[in-house]
Amino acid sequence: MAPTTAPAESTLSLRFLGVGNARASALGSASAVLECASVPQLLIDCGPRTLDDYAAHYAGELPTAVFITHLHMDHIGGVEQLFYRTYFEQRGRVQLFVPCELIPALHYKLANSPFVLSEGGANFWDAFRLVPVGDTFWLGNLLFKVFPVRHSGYRAAFGLVLPGAFLYSGDTRPIPEVIEAYAVADEPLFHDCGLHGSPAHAGLADLQREYPAALLRRVVAYHYESDAAGRQIEAAGLALARPGQRFSLPPALAVEA
Ligand SMILES: [Zn+2]
Repeated sequence: MAPTTAPAESTLSLRFLGVGNARASALGSASAVLECASVPQLLIDCGPRTLDDYAAHYAGELPTAVFITHLHMDHIGGVEQLFYRTYFEQRGRVQLFVPCELIPALHYKLANSPFVLSEGGANFWDAFRLVPVGDTFWLGNLLFKVFPVRHSGYRAAFGLVLPGAFLYSGDTRPIPEVIEAYAVADEPLFHDCGLHGSPAHAGLADLQREYPAALLRRVVAYHYESDAAGRQIEAAGLALARPGQRFSLPPALAVEA
């Protein structure tokens, strides 16, 4: 099988729709959109505010592909709204990429009712093209790798990497061994980082303690507590993502069969 080639020149970018933690609704639901030549390709997470912010950036459109990192409501609170919008307007158009381990719990949270429509006759999954995800998934000619992170239990939350282009941690404690295994091409590391850590989330001091300088230099912090907290993270030397900010990405590595 011939190698499949990812885009040679970098036409990729990542736009943050929101960068806040669960309490920082003013900063938006933590989510980001991978763009190729400014066209949205993949939405990462869909919290309560995400679809409105997505529509504001992309001419009122809905996403066509969504990856879910984990099942906390600030990351999936918009999926129910996405069901209603797609069921009536664009049924079956949205690919929903969900790590296999999360599918049963996602079903029981959002889909386990004979009356997802009050008149009946509809299954939640009729609206979507569900793509169960193991270690990898394709979107067009881009091959993403998915890895478990440290958040809310064993294999309960996942990050993803498009090798060469970017790594997105999702909610997590520090994962230096994972990053060193999955992000070996100097790609930017978009990473959960509040000013203060917690049992579920990385904080500034956690990253400074557990990541070598060469990794910290690549970190772009998101999922923080407030604008003021973000400024303090930035003052400590980390790059910071702000709501609506778009980052140009290096090209994805070519995929060898
Ligand atoms: Zn979470």
